[in-house]
Amino acid sequence: MSEPIKTLPLVFEEPKGRGKPPRHLADLTPAERKERLEELGLPGFRAKQLSTHYFSRLVDSPDAMTDLPAGTRDALVSGLLPNLMTPLRTLEADKGTTRKTLWKLFDGALVESVLMRYPGRATMCVSSQAGCGMACPFCATGQGGLQRNMSTAEIVEQVVAGARALSRGEVPGGPGRVSNVVFMGMGEPMANYKAVIGAVRRLTDPAPDGLGMSARGITVSTVGLVPRIEQLADEGIPVTLALSLHAPDDELRDELVPINTRWKVHEAVEAAWHYAEKTKRRVSIEYALIKDINDQAWRADLLADVLNSYGDWGWVHVNLIPLNPTPGSKWTASDPRDEKEFVRRLEAKGIPTTVRDTRGREIDGACGQLAAAE
Ligand code: SAH
Repeated sequence: MSEPIKTLPLVFEEPKGRGKPPRHLADLTPAERKERLEELGLPGFRAKQLSTHYFSRLVDSPDAMTDLPAGTRDALVSGLLPNLMTPLRTLEADKGTTRKTLWKLFDGALVESVLMRYPGRATMCVSSQAGCGMACPFCATGQGGLQRNMSTAEIVEQVVAGARALSRGEVPGGPGRVSNVVFMGMGEPMANYKAVIGAVRRLTDPAPDGLGMSARGITVSTVGLVPRIEQLADEGIPVTLALSLHAPDDELRDELVPINTRWKVHEAVEAAWHYAEKTKRRVSIEYALIKDINDQAWRADLLADVLNSYGDWGWVHVNLIPLNPTPGSKWTASDPRDEKEFVRRLEAKGIPTTVRDTRGREIDGACGQLAAAE
């Protein structure tokens, strides 16, 4: 490769000894919420009311929970709805329809989430870890290393906060709802599998137990932790899977996505194909186009051939991402001409291809730019 790259070690284990985030009703199943209140000497039947406030009414102030007796309201709220995170800063772009929020978690860890409103839909891009241990050299999050896994409730709360902002009409376009959630913020969702699955369940559980979203509107993006992709296929929740491939050959992918030294291109793609087979959901292949690194015409041909070798029943599409700038990286996005040729070659071989819009670049809120610095 032309530029020498800083290589960080891959990290799977989260650093120990920081304590756990407060337990919140979004961490728990409805039955567990009831048990939790009873453990605290509070009436279990109040759990349903608290869930309604949180998931259906999107209430964040105890004062608004007037159906709870004043005498136990504070205890109920601190028992199941403890404060999880504090917004430190919100940056806006696209006339306020793109909003990046920096959050401080209970232990001082920082994460970011991004709300993107389009005509007819609104997507919340959430973080699943504070930092990331996957060390991809072109991603700002990967350059900062892993601080810790996030809890289920910390993940869900990012979506609920976006839902509140939309329902209160704080985002231009009138009151609205979150229609899509993408696990494409900070972190590797499959390296925090249990909490991420919990969050997906809370998002899809019907109200008031959860947010009642459609699994089809949820995308889990991964560098390709093969055993976790297989596990996800068995969960019976048909979320969309996105695989961050970025190169069709092991030589280059070993450098761009270091986990490739553990699970090779063909293993990651095969797992994605299995996922599509099992769930009947079309898989998305993410490919950041980096000038003179992975944007050659022959790599487009090879990418199409690799994908087509698993079948041509429309199991896959490619989402190209023009590289977003990150601090300290000399790599840049491909020339528009090379990008066009890349698209043309994939389509010529029958691969449906889209080029992702780069919302939020000017607020460092686009793919690979989330660094969560104060
Ligand atoms: N760790 C998961 C979730 C993050 S999703 C994953 O890698 O899939 C963020 C997406 O943006 C990934 O596809 C990632 O590879 C991509 N990305 C990272 N840095 C980027 C950059 N500088 N420009 C464009 N895309 C980038």
